[in-house]
Amino acid sequence: VQEELGAVDAGLASSLNLTATVLDLVEAGAAEPQRTDWLRAACDGELLLAGALNEPSVAGSEMFDPAPTPSSYLRTRAVRDGDDWVITGSKAGWVSNAGAASHYLVFARTATDLPAVASTSAFWVPEDTPGLSVGPRTELLGMRSASHAEVFLDDVRVPSTALLGPEGGGLGLMQQAGGRMVVGLAAVFVGLARAAQDLALAETSTRTSWGRPLREHQAVALHLAEGAMELRAARLVVHDAARALDEGAAPQELAGLLPAAKAQAVDAAIHGAERAVKLLGGMGVTRGGGAEKLLRDAWTGWSCDFTGDVLRLGVAAAL
Ligand SMILES: Cc1cc2nc3c(=O)[nH]c(=O)nc-3n(C[C@H](O)[C@H](O)[C@H](O)COP(=O)(O)OP(=O)(O)OC[C@H]3O[C@@H](n4cnc5c(N)ncnc54)[C@H](O)[C@@H]3O)c2cc1C
Repeated sequence: VQEELGAVDAGLASSLNLTATVLDLVEAGAAEPQRTDWLRAACDGELLLAGALNEPSVAGSEMFDPAPTPSSYLRTRAVRDGDDWVITGSKAGWVSNAGAASHYLVFARTATDLPAVASTSAFWVPEDTPGLSVGPRTELLGMRSASHAEVFLDDVRVPSTALLGPEGGGLGLMQQAGGRMVVGLAAVFVGLARAAQDLALAETSTRTSWGRPLREHQAVALHLAEGAMELRAARLVVHDAARALDEGAAPQELAGLLPAAKAQAVDAAIHGAERAVKLLGGMGVTRGGGAEKLLRDAWTGWSCDFTGDVLRLGVAAAL
């Protein structure tokens, strides 16, 4: 499904992937009756969800620091007050669905004497909770059909039932149930790579030079062959990671497969979009021509939910 959506629009597809990701965490971590209530509302199409994790003054890649300290990574705090939690902090301007979401899954430190990985909790916060506000829309290079913005948390008070999973277990939940986010996003970029290849193929089939369709010139044909090979390889790597997730593969196996899937899919998308830009000539660099939008979306994917380089470090660590 994500590949099909990604072939049409990566921004929309990633927005839906994010909602599905939050639901994976709810399914894995929520207690009854919240679990059933929230999942049912989502299945009825009532919820668009956001995950508010990264923060403006902290490198998002800190999440993967192999030697974290209590002072590294997230600063947003949640403090117990009677039966409630009070959350204070802010989240970086890339929170997908910010401003449109009905609920935010907010990650906040519930202790400061342990590294974030052991002291971050996840809270389910309705968008109309007093103290939660959203900044102006962040203008991104691509994936502009999704909304992204900063999220501010100013003494946001939520009941104890808003805590998703165990106290201090928010990032553990991400690690345990976030695999489908990575595979889903990877599939989005396989879709984008496919759209780029289809566009290049269509345009070079109908446009002619020197008496024949462009694709019959060997220099063009070689580009198209390269695109077909990269697309197929990326799709197979993504399907392999999806299969491993479905079969409950060991964490060590997933640790290599998941980052490889997203990194390879985004690479195929970037290369495919670059190819389309080249093969479409002037139309390739013209707004509305299709290729430039694919290139902007593909490059935005490079930094979306863990950068291509940090994913490679994950692959290397799992070798
Ligand atoms: C379209 C989009 C949607 C997003 N959606 C969300 C969302 O819904 N919720 C949310 O919380 N966040 C979201 N993000 C944020 C995203 O997860 C982060 O941007 C990403 O994890 C990278 O973090 P950063 O921007 O802080 O870059 P940094 O971590 O500061 O990295 C900057 C550069 O340094 C490199 N780098 C960093 N550390 C290392 C290292 N140890 N070794 C080698 N190189 C390193 C990186 O590869 C990169 O090139 C989104 C981002 C985008 C672009």
